[in-house]
Amino acid sequence: NFERDTNMLLQDKVAVITGGAGLNGLGFATARQMAAQGAKVVILDLDRAKPADAAAQLGAGHLGLVADVTSKEQCEAAAAAIVAKFGRIDILVNNAGITQPVKTLDITGADYDRILDVSLRGTLYMSQAAIPAMRKQQSGSIICISSVSAQRGGGIFGGPHYSAAKAGVLGLAKAMAREFGIEGIRVNCITPGLIETDITQGKLDDAKKAEISSTIPLARLGRATDIAGACVFLGSDLSAYCTGITLDVNGGMLIH
Ligand code: NAD
Repeated sequence: NFERDTNMLLQDKVAVITGGAGLNGLGFATARQMAAQGAKVVILDLDRAKPADAAAQLGAGHLGLVADVTSKEQCEAAAAAIVAKFGRIDILVNNAGITQPVKTLDITGADYDRILDVSLRGTLYMSQAAIPAMRKQQSGSIICISSVSAQRGGGIFGGPHYSAAKAGVLGLAKAMAREFGIEGIRVNCITPGLIETDITQGKLDDAKKAEISSTIPLARLGRATDIAGACVFLGSDLSAYCTGITLDVNGGMLIH
């Protein structure tokens, strides 16, 4: 029985992924790999992204819910619905994020709010919503998707407010790792380099891709599955002694 294969890394774990409905995105790639490793996956996303449809593509036994991570009420309602259906939350991937390629002097207050609210406030709100269930279990793994742009002061598409939001995620995750380690809850970050998803779609022609690839030691852009693999590692017991870490998945774009 495939579903009872005890070799699967996430057997029977309940994994929640924010911003997971975009079929070309890091979140959905993570959902697929987690489901393939035996997890029951819950995809959260905005209504327009159709999270239930995305979850249906994973097969039976998974769930898709509408939840805007900038709303504390919607995060709490989603967590309550997940606990009502599955009884627990083992893994939370704080993946929802938006970017905007503008320079410092052009960032408006509204831009700042929009960009920071999804990545940083959303990471806080959804973690606050999931932690009570993890506390009850005295176990859990929270994975926060930051960005190489937090570490090097800009990636290729994000403005300074995006770098700030993603650097904020690193600090928030490390502080939560300190606070909740005693309760068996691990909190780690992934800092992706340039990954080909809808965020980059249409903005990079082949010549530009080749130019960027020539600056990367592994000589290619990242794939969504590269990030998914790192998420499976951090969500599973393979990483049982890792908390507060920042896992670079960038092809060597930044080595430090
Ligand atoms: P994507 O646009 O495919 O995915 C982002 C998802 O977040 C979308 O499904 C979107 O609907 C959802 N979302 C937006 N606002 C939301 C909200 N308020 N509440 C809930 N969901 C919301 O892009 P992606 O490239 O897959 O990005 C995933 C994450 O990875 C983001 O946090 C992004 O900043 C980060 N990242 C991406 C790259 C890259 O090169 N693609 C690099 C570093 C970091």
